[in-house]
Amino acid sequence: MNEKATGLAGQEALPEAFPPLTRHEALVESTRCLMCYDAPCTHACPTHIDIPKFIKKISTGNLKGSARTILESNLLGATCARVCPVQELCEGACVLGAEHKPIAIGRLQRYAMDYVYGKGLDIFLTAKTTGKKIGVVGAGPAGLSCAGELAKKGHDVTLFEKRDLAGGLSTFGIIGLREPVGISLAEVEMIRRLGVRIETQREIGKDLALAELQAKFDAIFLSLGLGATPNLGIPGEEQVIDGLEYIEQSKLNGHNLKIGRNVVVIGAGNTAIDCATIAKRCGAEDVTMLYRRTAGEMTAYPHEYDFIKKEGVRFEFLAQPVRILTEKGSVEAVECVRMSLGPKDASGRPAPRPVEGSHFVIAADQVVKAIGQEKASLAARLNLKTLKGYIDVNEDFQTSLPGVYAGGDCIRARGAASTVMAVQDGKLAARAIHERLVGNG
Ligand SMILES: Cc1cc2nc3c(=O)[nH]c(=O)nc-3n(C[C@H](O)[C@H](O)[C@H](O)COP(=O)(O)OP(=O)(O)OC[C@H]3O[C@@H](n4cnc5c(N)ncnc54)[C@H](O)[C@@H]3O)c2cc1C
Ligand code: SF4
Repeated sequence: MNEKATGLAGQEALPEAFPPLTRHEALVESTRCLMCYDAPCTHACPTHIDIPKFIKKISTGNLKGSARTILESNLLGATCARVCPVQELCEGACVLGAEHKPIAIGRLQRYAMDYVYGKGLDIFLTAKTTGKKIGVVGAGPAGLSCAGELAKKGHDVTLFEKRDLAGGLSTFGIIGLREPVGISLAEVEMIRRLGVRIETQREIGKDLALAELQAKFDAIFLSLGLGATPNLGIPGEEQVIDGLEYIEQSKLNGHNLKIGRNVVVIGAGNTAIDCATIAKRCGAEDVTMLYRRTAGEMTAYPHEYDFIKKEGVRFEFLAQPVRILTEKGSVEAVECVRMSLGPKDASGRPAPRPVEGSHFVIAADQVVKAIGQEKASLAARLNLKTLKGYIDVNEDFQTSLPGVYAGGDCIRARGAASTVMAVQDGKLAARAIHERLVGNG
């Protein structure tokens, strides 16, 4: 897999952090695996990859077979190998973790996947056509997984994507340090080679109505992801940079990315940590993360919090921005108010409340907000039944509209949103669609 093939080489501000395993390292690591029966790591992987099997194949030098084992369960194995929070998933369940180091499952998965993409090998043959047509909306991990699985079964699949590149957040949102753009785009090309027609710059609800898709396709899968970063609703907000755009710039236009000297990042989730990492590694002298609760309520993974503290990023807990202070159009500081924690709110966490008369100022010449994403507004406009603003689906990923399915972040009303969960949704929805259209065959 190479970034040169995508034409995007050298535009990322931050190169991939971990080097690939060497052949020797991969062999040594793979032979440490105990090949557990009913392996806990396989249960802990949301896509249930047969991990001992793919690792065994690495240890015997069968890298193509290893990649096949991975791709049979997870078509986006190269992305997941890089972005999965493995400490919380497969590696967290490794029995060796209790007393020794867990097996480096993510890095071994990457080793096998990089081998097949590097050699340009295709694993699956296209199947005999079924004559059924399926439309997929949104080319992020959920949409790519669903479209690819359906194409493998011989369906005629068209994938509509509103952006000019497919891949969703793997292309635009995941920091280059973790996943270079070229990896995401190589997977998009593999899905295309499975026979999926990918139409970019086609927004459903704007360029094409859902009713048009319903008339044309036997089934539809909605994988819309989430929306933009919400507004802070404070004076001077127009000077604040959207965290998702900050990351996107660092991935696709890294040479032109402007980094301040004193950067304040508003928020303390995983996206905020990614923004702080970019600022720090690309030259900011001081980076401060502002959060209205305490470290105990942060939504970022614990390993991410440890990582960013080691990067030298400061935290200002129990602080909420109330105004961006500017001088002649340039950001000078963030005015904040101190918060205290009260009883739990709807999120189940203690509600932050402003402390009267506690305003203070933090000097900053760049302010980035990373306070989550809004729910996909299209769901409400399409009159789909929703749950807490997310598209409501049954156990077969069917929405309230007949023949319309959904998966990925746009349905994730509970639990943490992640790439591997989106891939699994797409795979399971594809199975349900296939069963409805042609039965179990
Ligand atoms: C900054 C950031 C960092 C992250 N880092 C990680 C990580 O390290 N590890 C991890 O596991 N997860 C991570 N995640 C979460 C992960 O990226 C998502 O859970 C995953 O991408 C969800 O996949 P999806 O297909 O549901 O949505 P998305 O990836 O958001 O894809 C949705 C696609 O639908 C398209 N679309 C939307 N509306 C329309 C429309 N009307 N018509 C046509 N197309 C449309 C969008 O343009 C987009 O391409 C991160 C998320 C963010 C924001
Ligand atoms: S897909 Fe993710 S969770 Fe599953 S085995 Fe691979 S790295 Fe682990």
